[in-house]
Amino acid sequence: MIILVVNAGSSSLKYQLINMEDESVIAKGNCDRIGIDGHLAHKTSDGRKIDEDCNFPTHTEAFMKLVEVLTSGEGKVIDSMDEISAVGHRIVQGADVFDKSVLVTDEIIEKIDELRELAPVHNHAHALALRACKSVIPANVPQVVVFDTAFHQTMPPKAFMFGLPYEDYENLHVRKYGFHGTSHRFVSAALAEAMGKDAKDLKIISCHLGNGSSITAVNAGKSVDTTMGFTPLDGVIMGTRSGAVDPSAVTFVADKHGFTPAQMSDYMNKKSGFLGLSGIGSDNRDIQEAALNGNAKAQLVCDMLTYEIQKYIGAFAAAMNGVDAILFTGGIGENSWEVREAACSNMEYFGIKIDYALNKTIRGKLQKISTPDSKVEVWVVPTNEELLIARDTLALISK
Ligand code: AMP
Repeated sequence: MIILVVNAGSSSLKYQLINMEDESVIAKGNCDRIGIDGHLAHKTSDGRKIDEDCNFPTHTEAFMKLVEVLTSGEGKVIDSMDEISAVGHRIVQGADVFDKSVLVTDEIIEKIDELRELAPVHNHAHALALRACKSVIPANVPQVVVFDTAFHQTMPPKAFMFGLPYEDYENLHVRKYGFHGTSHRFVSAALAEAMGKDAKDLKIISCHLGNGSSITAVNAGKSVDTTMGFTPLDGVIMGTRSGAVDPSAVTFVADKHGFTPAQMSDYMNKKSGFLGLSGIGSDNRDIQEAALNGNAKAQLVCDMLTYEIQKYIGAFAAAMNGVDAILFTGGIGENSWEVREAACSNMEYFGIKIDYALNKTIRGKLQKISTPDSKVEVWVVPTNEELLIARDTLALISK
């Protein structure tokens, strides 16, 4: 059984074709620069690569190209789209409307589009892609949507409410939703399995650290709190996002710069974080290198990131009245031994001890890095959001 996983943005359409017999990737790629000009990058598991400029005025043309490249020419991996059992789509914002993955209907697409006010960059693009997909992929191929927010729908009100007037929650739906839920769900379940325990018996702090970062408290398999909020801007500092800032500083800065709300949002989402603080860039590797070379602002970024991770570990250990395991995932969490080492140092009070030598050798693989006498187990757990989307899709169409 073959499942196509789609991750659509406003100008891109990333995809993976997954063979569910062994959960292997048959081909993957990206239709990029939709609405600008168009570019396709396609890779098959047997090493064939396609890189070509295309014409993608809308998501529909991108889907047409996707079908073409999968079924014909140099990048061909299947004879026809009839070989695909279903399509699974990643959706960023499901708000409190969706607490699990669902089969796509016209009403579901409408609902996703209606939620666009809560995720202006993403949800409308998802709705466009869903409609385009429906018009290009054969009608008998079921489609499923998997929401980044769904895993966090188990948070209690005390964790998801803000201290704003209650009407803003009732009328404007302003609350913490949390994001990266697909990743946190995947890695926390994978960790329970690796530890040989039932997720129900574990208190896990899941640190997804990448270009976007969020940390989640997972108690008995359920998200009980997370660092991202109403949008993916809250929490720890990120590549270009500020993370948590005193709201009064936001209104003060907007006023001083003469920014509209949209301009201020852009400032905090695209010009802040590692990039804005260091003036170097948003990539953690560049920051680490500059810090090693003595750049004080880059060092400050490293110190802030470490400090914030440690603070949230402390906060979530308190929230769950304990922690059995901490996991690191995402581009930084899986690959940067430096960030993991810094985040796990000076944490003796929590009983966190890692094997520093072992930690240095681990990149992108499932591995326990804590010492045998560490009270809290510490693990590196590679994430695989596409696979979780494919698994959810398979589960729904098998029902
Ligand atoms: P993601 O958004 O999950 O793809 O993660 C991207 C981030 O991971 C970027 O900031 C990269 O610099 C960072 N990253 C990837 N590999 C490494 C590495 N070997 N060491 C440090 N950071 C890394």
